[in-house]
Amino acid sequence: MSRRSARIISRQTTTDVPEKTSITTKKQSRRQDRLTVIHTVVSSPTQTEEDNNIKSTSRRSAESVPLYDSDSSVKNTAHRKSVKPRHRKLKPEPVYDIPDVEKKETKFKGRLGYACLNTIMRNKRPASESVFCSRTCRIDSIKKNGIEWVKELGRKNVEDLLKIIQWNEDNKIRLFRLSSEMFPFASHPIYGYSLEYCSPLLAQAGELAQKYGHRLTSHPGQFTQLGSPKPGVVEASVRELEYHSEMLDLMGVGRDGVLVIHGGGVYDDKTATLKRIKKTIQDTLPQRVRERLVLENDELCYSAEDLLPLCEELDVPLVFDYHHDSLNPSSISPSEIIKRSNQIFHRRGITPKQHLSEPRPGTVTIMEKRAHADRCSSLPTELEQEGVSMEVDLMIEAKDKEQAVLELYRMYGLEEVKHESLRPPNELQTKETKGRKSNKRRKARDNDQSDGPIEEGFEKVASSRQKRRRKNPAE
Ligand SMILES: [Zn+2]
Repeated sequence: MSRRSARIISRQTTTDVPEKTSITTKKQSRRQDRLTVIHTVVSSPTQTEEDNNIKSTSRRSAESVPLYDSDSSVKNTAHRKSVKPRHRKLKPEPVYDIPDVEKKETKFKGRLGYACLNTIMRNKRPASESVFCSRTCRIDSIKKNGIEWVKELGRKNVEDLLKIIQWNEDNKIRLFRLSSEMFPFASHPIYGYSLEYCSPLLAQAGELAQKYGHRLTSHPGQFTQLGSPKPGVVEASVRELEYHSEMLDLMGVGRDGVLVIHGGGVYDDKTATLKRIKKTIQDTLPQRVRERLVLENDELCYSAEDLLPLCEELDVPLVFDYHHDSLNPSSISPSEIIKRSNQIFHRRGITPKQHLSEPRPGTVTIMEKRAHADRCSSLPTELEQEGVSMEVDLMIEAKDKEQAVLELYRMYGLEEVKHESLRPPNELQTKETKGRKSNKRRKARDNDQSDGPIEEGFEKVASSRQKRRRKNPAE
C-alpha cells in the first residue's frame, strides 16, 4: 500500500473525530511534514479528496496542490506561503449594488427553477463552506481509494442537496434539477454501485422537497444515446437512466420527477436512429425508467417536430426547449408543439415542463448561439396563451442559475426576493465561451491509467460533461 493511500484510509477512518485535528501523520520526511501541516488546514476529509481528485471548475487552493499531484516526486513549494491560520472564518458577503430591472407583466403561474448548482452556495469562502452536489473523481482515484471512498462523495453531495433545497425554499424557488454527478460512477460497469447505502439520506432530501412542494427532476448526460447502433452504448445509457431512476425512487419523488434526455446522435440516418430509439424505449427500458422518461428537442440533431410523432406514439412527453427550437426550428409553431406536448404530459398525469434560455448577446454563428446567456431577458410569449401553457414549470437554463430566476421574479413581480440573495449581473458577458481544457487538465487525463475502452469511454464522458458544463453550466 502506498503511503498516500495509507494516509487517505487514515483520514477516512477518523471522520467522526473533529476534522481539523483528526490527522496525525508521522513526520518521517520533509514532504510528509509538509503534508501534515496541509492536512490541518483542510476542513474535512471529503473536501480534501475532492480538492485532490475532482475535475472541479473552481480554482484550487494552493495548499491542495501537492496532494493533487499523484507523483510523489513533484516538488511544490507554493503552498508554504499559503498555509493559513487554522480557524478560517466565513468571509462576510460584500454589500452588492443591484441594478433595477425592467418591469413586465405575465399571466404565467408555473414554477421557475434552475439546474444543479447554486452560485451563491458554491462560491462560499473558505472553500470548505462551499455547498454543491457534484463532487466527482477520476477512476484512478477509485482504484486507489476504493468504492467506499467514492460513495462517501455521493453521501456528501446529498447532504449538500438538503441545504440547497432549504435555500430554494427560503428564496421561493420550487423547481430544481439534480446534478447527474450526485453519485460519481454509480452506473459504471465495473465501479458502479447501488444507492441503497444512502437511502435514509435520500429519503430525507425527498421528504424535504415534498414538504415544500418542490419539483425535483434530472437530466442524464449527453452520452445517454438510446438510438446508438452500438449495443454497448445503449446498455451504458440504460444503466445511466436506471441510476437516475433509482436516485429519484429512493427520494420518493413522484411522477413529476422526470428524466429528460435528448434524441442523441443521428448516426448518418435520422429515421433509422429514431426507430432504434423507439425499440430501446419499448423493449429495453425497465418500466420504472420508462415512467419517468421525457425527451427534449436539441439544437443540432432532433427538432421538436422530429421527436413529437415518437413521443405521441409512445406517450413519452416532450420537454420543449425554446432556445434549441430557435436554433433548430420546426415547421410547426412553438404554440402548436407546446399544445401537443402538454397533451402527452396531461395524459400521463405529469405536470408539463419546458426549458428556457437565450443565446449570449452579440452571437452570430450557430455554434456561438448554442452557449447560454447569463440571464433571461423575458418570459416567452407562448406562456401567455390561455389554456396552453400558463401552468407549466419552466427550467431556466441560464449561466447565472438561481440569479436568473430571481431576476425574472423581480422583472415580473412573481415573488418577493431577498436583497441579500441577489448578485449583480456580470457586465463583461461576452459571446465567448470558456475555451479548451487547460494543458494541466489534458496532461492529467493523458496520464490517467485506465483499464481499457470501457473506462476510457467513461472518463471521456465525465470529461466531456465537465467541459460542456464549463461552456454551458445550465445543462
Ligand atoms: Zn434544455
